[in-house]
Amino acid sequence: MRIFVFVLAAWLGLSMACGRAAEPPLPAPSPAGRNVVLILIDGVRQQEWGGRAVDDAGRPVRGSELFPVLQQLRKRGLWMPNVNISNPAGVSLPAYADIFAGRRQEKILSNHPPVEDYRSHYPTLMQEARRQLGLGFDGVSLIASWGPLCTIAFVPPLLPEADFFRSCSFKNNLPPSPEPPLFFKPEVYANSRTDIDTFSELLREVPKRHPRLLVVHLGDADEEAHLHARVQRKTGQHYGIFHYHQALRQDDYLVGRIWDALQADPFYRDNTYLIVTTDHGRDTAEDPAQWASHGRCIAERIRQKPCSGCSGVFALAVGPGIPTRTARGTYLHTDLAPTIAKLLGIEFPSATGKPIREIVEPALRAPPRGPVTTPAPFLTLAPQPQVPPATPPGVHPAPPVGSPASPSVPAHSVAVPSAPPAR
Ligand SMILES: [Zn+2]
Ligand SMILES: [Zn+2]
Repeated sequence: MRIFVFVLAAWLGLSMACGRAAEPPLPAPSPAGRNVVLILIDGVRQQEWGGRAVDDAGRPVRGSELFPVLQQLRKRGLWMPNVNISNPAGVSLPAYADIFAGRRQEKILSNHPPVEDYRSHYPTLMQEARRQLGLGFDGVSLIASWGPLCTIAFVPPLLPEADFFRSCSFKNNLPPSPEPPLFFKPEVYANSRTDIDTFSELLREVPKRHPRLLVVHLGDADEEAHLHARVQRKTGQHYGIFHYHQALRQDDYLVGRIWDALQADPFYRDNTYLIVTTDHGRDTAEDPAQWASHGRCIAERIRQKPCSGCSGVFALAVGPGIPTRTARGTYLHTDLAPTIAKLLGIEFPSATGKPIREIVEPALRAPPRGPVTTPAPFLTLAPQPQVPPATPPGVHPAPPVGSPASPSVPAHSVAVPSAPPAR
């Protein structure tokens, strides 16, 4: 008790000396060298994550059917149901631009900004982590289904010695290889690979690079929602919400597979924060077809700003020290990057968002990782031992690429597979 009084008196004295009694300083960054994985699922509507979805026949679709993995993760971490987007458009590119930079990027107001503005205008979390932690090319990775994310992930010019592994749509910035790029599904959605191929890329690349900061984007759900409107418009046929729901089920499963892969890897096991969010919701209109859209909303007849269904999103954080509960605060997309910066122990002076104290305070007080004694808590299935792929006769396997000291290479593109005939 006496110690408590002393600590309280010392804290009050310090606060008054600093002239601000309200917000105690955050604890010093943990020296544990934690990792952070940020997963962005594109376009998750409130009805779905809020457990109020219905199928094409109007029957309820429970949250446990769509998001069994996210529901399990909610039981292990901080669930944030009150997060708002920070851009006024309610579409993808401005949201990702803000999430990456931890601030509003005023020049990115649509998915198609002028070509000279098609970049990050402020340092991104990935750039700051790479620089301040002294990481190599492999130390930060961005693996995304949607092509434009690799373009807005940095302020140009990005010098080769500051570059980091970026793999978006059908392109990555590895040195040219004699091997053709490996994809399992063709370009189903314009300028996007499917989430299965993004996941496959992640499983191939992450174990050999071990990024301290990994950003993953899954885009199928938003694509399937837009496809509903496109099919309806062009054919008059009902495509339906089933495909959107299937994509969400798939992405939930992939989050589980990513979690399981992290838990099976001693580099990440019990030493990694996982944060999941979405870039925007969707329209909540009386017209049942409006779930396909997002942005300036038809739903609430507001043209100046996104409707509430579009701007209200969720986030989830799991990792060492983070308590299991629902967050009390309301947060912004722009708060995520400063929060992750604190978890990594770096500064982010250009960000205007604020670190989420409900995450950062308990996380920074968590003890360093101890010896692992319990079986890994897999959510989907235990990762399988990898079988080396068969090498065709006459083809020599490519040497492993990427070590912390290795590629200081200019970005380049690999060939995009041609789109298949429509089926
Ligand atoms: Zn989006
Ligand atoms: Zn969209």
